[in-house]
Amino acid sequence: MSTTPPPRIAIVGAGPGGLACARILARHGIAATVYDRDAGPDARDQGGTLDLHADNGQLALREAGLLEEFFRLSRHEGQEMRQLDPSGAVLFHHVPEPDERFKPEIDRRVLRDLLLGSLPPGTVRWGHTLRAVTGPSQGPRRLHFAGGTTVECDLVIGADGAWSAVRRSVSDATPRYTGVSFLEAWFHDVTARHPDIAELVGQGSAAAADGERGLFAQRNGGDHVRVYVIQRAPADWITAAGLEPQDTGRIRARLLERFRDWSPRMRRLVGDNDGPYVDRPIHALPAGHTWQHSPSVTLLGDAAHLMPPLGVGVNLALLDACELALALARHDTVGEAVRAYEDTMLPRSAETSRLLDGAVHDLVSTELPDFAAAAEGR
Ligand SMILES: Cc1cc2nc3c(=O)[nH]c(=O)nc-3n(C[C@H](O)[C@H](O)[C@H](O)COP(=O)(O)OP(=O)(O)OC[C@H]3O[C@@H](n4cnc5c(N)ncnc54)[C@H](O)[C@@H]3O)c2cc1C
Repeated sequence: MSTTPPPRIAIVGAGPGGLACARILARHGIAATVYDRDAGPDARDQGGTLDLHADNGQLALREAGLLEEFFRLSRHEGQEMRQLDPSGAVLFHHVPEPDERFKPEIDRRVLRDLLLGSLPPGTVRWGHTLRAVTGPSQGPRRLHFAGGTTVECDLVIGADGAWSAVRRSVSDATPRYTGVSFLEAWFHDVTARHPDIAELVGQGSAAAADGERGLFAQRNGGDHVRVYVIQRAPADWITAAGLEPQDTGRIRARLLERFRDWSPRMRRLVGDNDGPYVDRPIHALPAGHTWQHSPSVTLLGDAAHLMPPLGVGVNLALLDACELALALARHDTVGEAVRAYEDTMLPRSAETSRLLDGAVHDLVSTELPDFAAAAEGR
């Protein structure tokens, strides 16, 4: 990049996409500042585990110079996959080969720490909740944070996830409810405290469905298992039933009733959890979401193309981040770089989002997906 003085680049969001973008920019000598609303890196539980794929997420980590460290930190054995029926019988079982590296699992917190530790000190400014972006399309732009702080920059990269505040400056689109709701349940110290569940889930993931409801259980690091209880239901089904999300006992009773035809062993995945359930109604942006091009604002990851959680979200966020950073390193102006990035990213995400449109309902379907293809990345 030959611009003088160097462009002022602000990345909003210290998720996997925003941090990977900052890291790859830094490797090319381009400074960026990342702003995140979290008070600090440990301000909230980062959630479960993510599988990074060889043909997108891992490509970004290679450009970030972090791929070997990722392989060291990730769980190769997490690539194990089981499909069960409501009785707990195994319908399909994939055990990874010793050299299989298509999609190892890594805990979100571990991935975030890996990326954070790779950045120049001071890159991330915590406790900055973006409220709005103002300024002309050609720039410069002004970021307005909660509390009144403002910052001027030449390029705003919206990496601020599903409910992106940056997106509002270029697009009217908002995520829509898909009709499918997840309820997250956690099991701790599973080897000692939940041996049946440890055995049922194995080292990777186990899924089951009966046409109306489904379960997706995943081994996480630190001897934890996370289960998503998946239901076709209104987004507000908990409050509509007169319950609060923290009414663990009453929600549990309802779930056990809904899964009454499942075997006692499978119902443990629904009701033996430690601690409260976490309500996660699943939203998605309209398939093929795009926006009015601006040389001073762009989006990546969920901010650009929120899709249902079918294993691509973080991988696309990392790939976007990588391509945007490389475009900024290779083009003479920020405007040319943003154009080149969007010319590749928008058609790719449009195609993927159309393929996945409605596919979240497959999670409760009894039609078995093509597991062999999924395991091999076809
Ligand atoms: C239940 C569930 C399970 C999932 N499982 C998988 C999976 O197994 N595999 C997979 O690939 N994907 C999965 N996903 C999707 C995946 O989590 C996302 O696609 C991925 O995290 C997107 O990364 P990102 O960097 O774009 O955004 P995020 O990870 O959402 O990061 C956004 C960051 O922006 C910050 N932020 C938000 N708003 C503001 C603001 N106004 N101001 C400042 N900062 C802000 C947030 O604090 C956050 O740090 C799942 C999603 C859900 C909901």
